[in-house]
Amino acid sequence: MSLQDIQTRIAAAEAQAGRTPGSVRLIAVSKVQPDDRVRAVLDAGHRVFGENRVQEAAGKWPGFRDMFGPVELHLLGPLQTNKARQAMELFDVIHSLDRPKLARTLARLADELGRCPDLFVQVNTGAEPQKAGILPDDADAMIAECRSLDLPVQGLMCIPPVDEDAATHFRLLAEIAARNGLAGLSMGMSDDFETAIAHGATHIRVGSAIFGARVPG
Ligand SMILES: *Cc1c(COP(=O)(O)O)cnc(C)c1O
Repeated sequence: MSLQDIQTRIAAAEAQAGRTPGSVRLIAVSKVQPDDRVRAVLDAGHRVFGENRVQEAAGKWPGFRDMFGPVELHLLGPLQTNKARQAMELFDVIHSLDRPKLARTLARLADELGRCPDLFVQVNTGAEPQKAGILPDDADAMIAECRSLDLPVQGLMCIPPVDEDAATHFRLLAEIAARNGLAGLSMGMSDDFETAIAHGATHIRVGSAIFGARVPG
């Protein structure tokens, strides 16, 4: 378990970029990890975790919360509208707000439930057909629509194409956020979180570097 190594590297990257110490939030991505690995990170005192699937998260986090107390949970994977209510009840933050229809569903449910998780609009910075997210050219309109629905949008999220220089995509995401007055930047994973911090990431999503390689099944 190398949670502490990652925390040390985050602090170094913050210092190098002239960022305020502690300004980057580490989301430990526990999807598909065996429970004993997750428990070890909870035992080490970490309380901010990310999951990709509502169903998987609903199976393990109520139990961990009973055992360990409050845990801040972030949804990182695509959200179907028919799972939106369950997601809003389970997660504190949703990073995958990727289409107007989902925004309208979340707004309706927020009225019903009287609360709404913090939200990040996912931008498909590489315009990859297989990837979720609003296209960069449509991002301003999407953010405006979310604001007109009174949704609590805190920032933007991206997953750069695997075969491209991540920094280009982090820079683009930061530009779109800045021109829309958004402070949050969810970007950077195990292989590139230091680059993301240098480009202003406020939330980094680190899985395998903390837990080890994901065990399928
Ligand atoms: C799996 C995943 C991560 C973590 O990936 P690692 O390479 O294991 O750090 C981060 N963000 C999203 C959206 C993911 O699906």
